[in-house]
Amino acid sequence: MGVAEQYKNLRDEIDQVCIACGRAPQDVVLVAVSKTVGIAEVNLALEAGAKDFGENRSDELVKKHQACPSAQWHFIGNIQSRRIADIVPCAHLIHSVYKAEHLPKIQEAAQRAGKVQNILLEVNSGEEQKDGIQPDMAFDFAEAASRLNNVRLCGLMTMAPQGDLNEARRCFKALRLLRDEMASAGVVDSSVFRELSMGMTEDWRQAVEEGATLIRVGRAVFSSEFA
Ligand SMILES: *Cc1c(COP(=O)(O)O)cnc(C)c1O
Repeated sequence: MGVAEQYKNLRDEIDQVCIACGRAPQDVVLVAVSKTVGIAEVNLALEAGAKDFGENRSDELVKKHQACPSAQWHFIGNIQSRRIADIVPCAHLIHSVYKAEHLPKIQEAAQRAGKVQNILLEVNSGEEQKDGIQPDMAFDFAEAASRLNNVRLCGLMTMAPQGDLNEARRCFKALRLLRDEMASAGVVDSSVFRELSMGMTEDWRQAVEEGATLIRVGRAVFSSEFA
């Protein structure tokens, strides 16, 4: 089975899980994480109907964005300050922002590029994970973001600890509750603060059931291990 078939089978399965839990399939965007493959595989997925792709390194994001400008490129990796100026012109959505000190740099790069940069706030879901903000700091971050005209905070992102699907579900549910709490506290624009980026190859089913609007799946699309 090739990339095209793997992508289509996965998208069908996502649609089935959505329907089984009473959600509309179009409310869950599949971000195909192409960090381990090249442009040829991205093109196979594009031809199979994929539109959204995720990268975790700025150099790969820039390269693939240039090669495949019709795709929507998502940045999902660790953000290095000095790479923000490279990431912003290429990224439809940056999922992995959690340092308030990066916000002015994103603002500056977005202004220069003549765009409003969509971002998500990455939330730390456990001790073994080093990245992400602590949930109680999310409100201050949202307030800082709301003061920047070229930055739009669209929701939250997390990575669950791997290996325990019940624990993953607990993290996903906590992320949904935090989103809803922030929206009702009025610290965010609730008409745009809707996204939950959560779920990967191992745990996307649990994430969809708990309300994910974006799932970031790499191996199930691109690795022959999942063919
Ligand atoms: C690699 C990666 C993914 C995809 O992981 P798979 O297990 O291959 O689906 C999702 N999110 C982030 C942040 C990643 O780095």
